[in-house]
Amino acid sequence: MYSEKDYLMLSGIQHFVFCRRQWALIHIEQQWAENYQTTAGELMHKKAHDEGSFEKRGDLLTVRGLRISSRSLGMSGQCDVVEFHQDKDGAELFGYDGRWRPVPVEYKRGTVKEDGSDEAQLCAQAICLEEMFQTEIREGFLYYGQNRRRHRVEFTEALRENVKKLSGEMHELLLRGYTPNVRYSKRCKACSLEDICLPKLQKDVDVRAYIEQNIHSKD
Ligand code: SF4
Repeated sequence: MYSEKDYLMLSGIQHFVFCRRQWALIHIEQQWAENYQTTAGELMHKKAHDEGSFEKRGDLLTVRGLRISSRSLGMSGQCDVVEFHQDKDGAELFGYDGRWRPVPVEYKRGTVKEDGSDEAQLCAQAICLEEMFQTEIREGFLYYGQNRRRHRVEFTEALRENVKKLSGEMHELLLRGYTPNVRYSKRCKACSLEDICLPKLQKDVDVRAYIEQNIHSKD
């Protein structure tokens, strides 16, 4: 269990999955750069958050911008949308009759990613909501702006274990104040921190190849 002073930004988990170094540059070294993707994503989230708004339609209560935290993950953040569905197995909600099952919904621009970063972020939100409402949450949804579709995410044991492992690694890196080295890959082209990270300059160079290229080739 972490204390509040050690909480990490929950949204950082998607940076961490995308690239450990990117996360450390943002969250340990406090460097940040906007590119088209981050700006468009930010605008989309602002629209989705509309902080603190409640809307009730029949047996569905929709809450936007709900602040969340988890002591077991040592994280806090904000959900774009949490839907509370009336369900006898759900949690009690102050001011509302009956029991309600929380379902987190996260808005993303673009489309489904292969690296699992969005699923990890959504699952971390679910773990926070479970601790706050003392109930079990089996599923959530990612809404992708490009195709305007919802993608269902099941919070399996494997996904939960992975999120706990990621959170442990993040806390450990922060404690050590360690920024991982560059691992250059095609994702660097889409990275908002490429100009700060300078991955091509910093990637490890094979000494033999360097000598061949820069010394022997000049003989
Ligand atoms: S440029 Fe590449 S290595 Fe550097 S932070 Fe971005 S993704 Fe990571």
